[in-house]
Amino acid sequence: MSQHIARKRFGQNFLQDQKVIFDIVRAVQPTQNDTVIEIGPGLGALTTPLVAQINQLHVIEIDRNIITRLKQSEYAHKLIIHEGDVLKFDFKSIVGPKKLVGNLPYNISTPLLFHLAQLADEVVDMHFMLQKEVVERMVALPNSGDYGRLSVMLQYFFEMEYLFTVPPEAFDPPPKVKSAVVRMIPQQGRIGLASDFEFFQKIVAQAFSQRRKTIRNTLKGWADEAVLLLCQIDPTSRPENISPQQYVALSNLLCVQKSV
Ligand code: SAM
Repeated sequence: MSQHIARKRFGQNFLQDQKVIFDIVRAVQPTQNDTVIEIGPGLGALTTPLVAQINQLHVIEIDRNIITRLKQSEYAHKLIIHEGDVLKFDFKSIVGPKKLVGNLPYNISTPLLFHLAQLADEVVDMHFMLQKEVVERMVALPNSGDYGRLSVMLQYFFEMEYLFTVPPEAFDPPPKVKSAVVRMIPQQGRIGLASDFEFFQKIVAQAFSQRRKTIRNTLKGWADEAVLLLCQIDPTSRPENISPQQYVALSNLLCVQKSV
């Protein structure tokens, strides 16, 4: 097969470090009959060891040249190829509990994570490689500089675990930044349910719209001091001091207030 030239617009940085590849597949722990979906198989760095362990692998890929290569690969008979943009992919079209894995295209990481966040009911777990800085924000706890809207919205749905750091040399071509692998497992009710998810999203977005201001100021017109105090939120605290549980409690209380 002719050599593939990496396409920057598709965030193509191909994994070449066998130890990193081995560590990712070991973290995923696929078993033969699992429904596994790989996002962006590329030249098959993860695809090859995955298909060695399972009967069938779903792959979602946007690059037509790569699709052609996948169809010609020696493991093509084990692949179910979904050609197109993962941001538009309907994961519910694949029935049953799924394991998602991918060395994700970094140029679409934030919209992709928000898209994937909605899949908590559909998945067993997710293992992704992303920019280290993004993974740090995903797993960040309250009272840290990395904690923000992404942390709250993902931690609402998932338990997050930072697994390991990957240096640029592990890829060809090497990206400009360090990378990291993260594990996401659907929450088992630790955080509680937002009674109106859209409203919860809005409150969190509003709270983090001005990080430096106190929560009393950023949520002016949304929540008064009494409501904040009822949720055990200090009105003089900043958005990064408030836990996902407190955002859920606040959103739920405001929903009750709206409805009376
Ligand atoms: N899994 C391979 C590896 O580890 O070497 C490739 C990883 S590369 C960082 C990202 C892959 O995602 C590429 O194959 C790229 O073509 C694909 N991709 C980029 N944008 C995509 C999108 N919107 N939908 C589906 N696949 C996409």
